Amino acid sequence: MSSWQNWSGLAIAHPAQELAPATAAEVVDAVVAARHQRLTVKMPGTGHSFTDIAVTDGLLLRPDRLRGVTAVDRDAMTVTALAGTTLHELNATLERLGLTLHNMGDIADQTIAGATSTGTHGTGGVKASLSAQVAALELVAGDGSVVRASATENPDVFAVARLGLGALGVLTSLTFEVEPVFTLEAQESPRTWDQVLGTLDRLEADNHHFEFYWFPHTDRCLVKEDNRVLDPTAPLGRVRRYVDDELLSNTVFGLVNRLGNLRPALIPRLNELSGRALSARRYSDVPHRVFTSPRRVRFREMEYAVPREVGPQALRDVRRLIDRSGWHISFPVEVRVCPADDVALSTASGRDSMYLAFHVNRQTDHAAYFSGVEDVLRGYDGRPHWGKLHTRTATDLEPAYPRWAEFQAVRDRLDPDRVFANAYLRRVLGD
Ligand SMILES: Cc1cc2nc3c(=O)[nH]c(=O)nc-3n(C[C@H](O)[C@H](O)[C@H](O)COP(=O)(O)OP(=O)(O)OC[C@H]3O[C@@H](n4cnc5c(N)ncnc54)[C@H](O)[C@@H]3O)c2cc1C
Repeated sequence: MSSWQNWSGLAIAHPAQELAPATAAEVVDAVVAARHQRLTVKMPGTGHSFTDIAVTDGLLLRPDRLRGVTAVDRDAMTVTALAGTTLHELNATLERLGLTLHNMGDIADQTIAGATSTGTHGTGGVKASLSAQVAALELVAGDGSVVRASATENPDVFAVARLGLGALGVLTSLTFEVEPVFTLEAQESPRTWDQVLGTLDRLEADNHHFEFYWFPHTDRCLVKEDNRVLDPTAPLGRVRRYVDDELLSNTVFGLVNRLGNLRPALIPRLNELSGRALSARRYSDVPHRVFTSPRRVRFREMEYAVPREVGPQALRDVRRLIDRSGWHISFPVEVRVCPADDVALSTASGRDSMYLAFHVNRQTDHAAYFSGVEDVLRGYDGRPHWGKLHTRTATDLEPAYPRWAEFQAVRDRLDPDRVFANAYLRRVLGD
């Protein structure tokens, strides 16, 4: 029996069978055959979710052969790709075509189906989540039927399946809204906690995309402001990029983390040193090379979306909790903002949101830190990222999502026999 493991190493699966379909027709055959054998079915992406959302003990459908861009429509400004295409691959093809996605998260290793299925998001812009940038999709439902959905075709499915948690079917292709490629300029600058918290509204209003990192146990923050400019791209030189993104963000950060793991009491001083070592920099490039960067230090993560207007207060409460807790937190807390969207189970569904993300090294026990913070953020009507660690269940998630029943009605229709169920989905969506 083969096994499958996610990026963080926290989730392991031992599927009874494995297949790697290359077409929608092969996915149909696989789903129908599994159903006859009473096996559940799951197609994971690249395993970048921290939860066991992609785990199966039934039939695992590898996404590796379901890849590539299949259609480009320059009139509608949309691009269609097979579900197992990675964001790296999509971004590279779009760049060759002179096109780009509007917004994205901070890595591009995920598959497009995996990323949208959990509501992967970036910060700012008109749309921050990838799900909200989906214009159409195709999936294979629990009975093996092929369902296409867009704003005009099966709109009830479209409303929910852009972020389907893998619970509605196997996505075979996704169509994204795209725009002509542009130059995105990033400006990164160290600031203090008070400087950032005191100017949050202005930072958000003055920039197309804005995020910041706060170094726990210190007053230090790093602000990243990304804006569209008309100038040609002016990327960092290869040496500076290597030093900043590989050496400092990955290699040195990895060593500092290992040291912090061995001697947790050193972490506040290490954070202070890391915060001080940050320097301002400005560069520009095509959007995906500014939005995303390599993340080689493996970690565990929880992220919550709270209503935008209570975000700063929630963050202050979290800081107070960390300050009095005695925990030693070596990873910066990442803060992003996201406009409301119209996807039923999106963490930003129907409300402007602020995202607060918490990380620990992959070997570190996260339980006390994450559950303490989770308690605070629940109090602010927080919604957990579907692909990141959390302890919520269907009973207490339902009230957080006004459109919960819409999702469940489509789930009952597309997968009445729960061919796509697993333990995580039973916990967060119910049986
Ligand atoms: C280093 C790192 C950085 C990250 N950065 C961000 C970020 O900036 N913003 C953010 O929001 N999140 C971020 N994430 C979280 C990540 O984007 C999500 O967890 C995403 O779901 C991972 O995509 P994946 O391809 O690895 O999917 P997986 O984790 O493998 O699967 C996720 C879900 O998608 C389903 N799925 C995959 N393919 C299909 C298909 N064809 N049909 C139906 N269901 C399918 C799976 O079954 C599963 O339910 C990050 C994670 C890591 C590890």
